[in-house]
Amino acid sequence: MERTLAIIKPDAVAAGHAGKILDRILQEGFAVRAMKLVQLTPAQAEGFYAVHAERPFFGELTEFMSSAPCIPLVLERDDAVAKWREVIGATNPADAEEGTIRKQFATSMGENAVHGSDSAENGVKEGRYFFPESVIVANGADVIDA
Ligand code: UDP
Repeated sequence: MERTLAIIKPDAVAAGHAGKILDRILQEGFAVRAMKLVQLTPAQAEGFYAVHAERPFFGELTEFMSSAPCIPLVLERDDAVAKWREVIGATNPADAEEGTIRKQFATSMGENAVHGSDSAENGVKEGRYFFPESVIVANGADVIDA
């Protein structure tokens, strides 16, 4: 099993798409190990996207990500990183394939509905950015059945 961090970004939460995106996550066979609604501070958004600090879109991106609530989720599945990136589609919705979440819900390159980690190592690291390991449940299915 592999972990990835998904974020339902502020544009998708504000537009009321969170339920449909969560449904898709479950349909695609991911187990949700942690989830919350949170509004990031600008500093938290800058910390999360620190790897992009020198990029021209950094200010716009971190301002957008801290502008309204978002929903980070720790997801687990076989091949979770690659599978989630396949389901979300290309960064630019103009390039995203039919049937992907970004094709369906993204409105621009910046406001593109969802985030997905780009490696298994970052999946674990990014999950811990939002959730202490103690609140990432070992088996989501058990929680639903309880
Ligand atoms: N982004 C942007 N302009 C760009 C490239 C990226 O606004 O030219 C934003 C976009 O929201 C993207 C995020 O920065 O999702 C992170 O960029 P990355 O290249 O890591 O894309 P992702 O992995 O999210 O597809």
